[in-house]
Amino acid sequence: MIVVRNLEGRDAPQLLCDVCEQPITDGNMAAVVFKRSDESGEGATLHPLLYAHKGVCHRTAEQRLGGDEATGWIELYQHLLHLLKNCGLPAPELARLQGEHDRKFRDEDGSEWKL
Ligand SMILES: [Zn+2]
Repeated sequence: MIVVRNLEGRDAPQLLCDVCEQPITDGNMAAVVFKRSDESGEGATLHPLLYAHKGVCHRTAEQRLGGDEATGWIELYQHLLHLLKNCGLPAPELARLQGEHDRKFRDEDGSEWKL
């Protein structure tokens, strides 16, 4: 789940594992688990997904959504790239916006932003 947590006086978004509810801080060690469906199109049933640390949390997420046969999973970075594209923010556009963002959120002393 995505939450906002005050870190050093800033409202910082964080991604929590939906199983253990601890922050996901190493994106390479996280997965997105979802229930598989044969339906497609606008009228298809919407299914929840779970963000999970790889390992025990990943296996627990699969069990919560019906087990290994009923679920699929994707690397977190792939999921985020697909999500951003589907929101109209493909990677090249995001890279352009990052420059604007960095200038806006950089500390007054020029140090890197901490959001
Ligand atoms: Zn976890």
